[in-house]
Amino acid sequence: MTDSYTTTDGGAAAPSDTDSLTLGPDGPILLQDHYLIEQMANFNRERIPERQPHAKGGGAFGHFEVTNDVSAYTRAAVFAPGTKTETLIRFSTVAGERGSPDTWRDPRGFALRFYTSEGNFDMVGNNTPVFFVRDPLKFQHFIRSQKRLAANNLRDHNMIWDFWTLTPESAHQVTWLMGDRGIPKTWRHMNGYSSHTYSWLNAGGEIFWVKYHFISDQGVQCLTQADADRIAGEDADYHQRDLYEAIERGEYPSWTLKMQIMPYEEAKTYRFNPFDLTKVWPHGDYPLIDVGKLTLDRNVTDYHTEIEQAAFEPNNIVPGTGLSPDKMLLGRGFSYADAHRARLGVNYKQIPVNAPKVDVRSYSKDGVMRVHNVTDPVYAPNSYGGPKADPDRAAEVRWYADGEMVRSAYTLRKDDDDWGQAGTLVRHVLDDEQRERLASNIIGHVCNGVKEPVLTRVFEYWRNVDPDLGKKVEEGVRTNLG
Ligand code: NDP
Repeated sequence: MTDSYTTTDGGAAAPSDTDSLTLGPDGPILLQDHYLIEQMANFNRERIPERQPHAKGGGAFGHFEVTNDVSAYTRAAVFAPGTKTETLIRFSTVAGERGSPDTWRDPRGFALRFYTSEGNFDMVGNNTPVFFVRDPLKFQHFIRSQKRLAANNLRDHNMIWDFWTLTPESAHQVTWLMGDRGIPKTWRHMNGYSSHTYSWLNAGGEIFWVKYHFISDQGVQCLTQADADRIAGEDADYHQRDLYEAIERGEYPSWTLKMQIMPYEEAKTYRFNPFDLTKVWPHGDYPLIDVGKLTLDRNVTDYHTEIEQAAFEPNNIVPGTGLSPDKMLLGRGFSYADAHRARLGVNYKQIPVNAPKVDVRSYSKDGVMRVHNVTDPVYAPNSYGGPKADPDRAAEVRWYADGEMVRSAYTLRKDDDDWGQAGTLVRHVLDDEQRERLASNIIGHVCNGVKEPVLTRVFEYWRNVDPDLGKKVEEGVRTNLG
């Protein structure tokens, strides 16, 4: 701030910061008090539609530095040895509205942008390696079931469990969510996963299937349900405050990027469908390979322009990276960009935080809030020196598909079912104390409003995940409900 005059939005010196223009001190306000009207009109338009979902969040700028050589798998400049790239991250909860508490039990968004020398590359991840559904047609229904009832506008656990228990593929993610990691201590103390399978392409044109794992260098730490409930009442912005203050103190959080990499051909016969978003690739099958380090070292200075208007999308891909046949990912390829057009307008990529750090030479033109001039020629092909598409990108191999157009679930593989990996998590990853807290979290959640016929299905759901856990949940719920 300087000590020069306040101005109107037109840049002229403003007449007053305190008094409107009236006809005499007690008289009516005059219509030509443009500055008053400008201030009131601007205020009325300050809020833009919140995201649906992932409305509540915060983030920071940082950088990503490649520490290993993965050029055998990708030709992307951002992953070339030694490359350092500016980044933006946004963390969020999924179901809550913009003012909702940070410590509600919910997956966390982990949306990351790399401002690469080849254009923006975004990874729209979560702090969980899997998701509740595997088909984009179910996504809208899933989110509605997590939000509010139509009549009373209340969140409703009966609705939540109704959807989950009628959607058995949710079991892996729900197990994860009800466990300790369902409430991270801070955003700094959680991992970020692409969850989706993506592709990488190397300089020789070979394609690999990949999963991104950003492992927290601070370690994974979580809140108990009781602590999270208390904090929700004391400081709804607990996670946002923690990140901001840590960066202000110079304690820059970091994550090590590790990849799981599957050769193209192996996807055809792998024991799990590798494109099913409700499954992980066990580490024993595809070990994590180090790539580099992400560090957050700069707070935003305007939350609205740099976080509220940040528009991440999984189809921001650069040469050497790509999508995969994961149906949820392909659905998000449309839905994210469409959400941004709806919230921010068709020219949202001209908002500085969304603009790449490289020249843009697309043939898009006009539209609401376009601020950069376009130049002739405005069409392609043309005889007047306009840009031409990159033939190397056209030659990039993606994947082959054949068959009739169908509406059907993924073909099951040898070890595919909806319960197996959730059971592995319960029996082989969690220890006794973690299993106790898992059961207690489920019981507490279910006792908060779940009714028949959903209740009976809840018991069956957990018996399918793990018989002991199912028994414990049923006993606990029946005792609590009397
Ligand atoms: P591993 O024994 O090799 O790995 C288990 C992984 O589970 C750990 O590396 C850790 O992932 C994660 N984990 C540890 N504690 C918890 C917890 N309380 N809640 C959730 N996740 C936790 O096993 P597999 O790779 O064979 O996978 C076994 C199960 O582990 C899976 O079915 C899945 O539920 C879970 N898991 C697997 C991941 C994967 O990508 N393979 C990733 C995360 C969970 P991390 O190192 O990422 O912190």
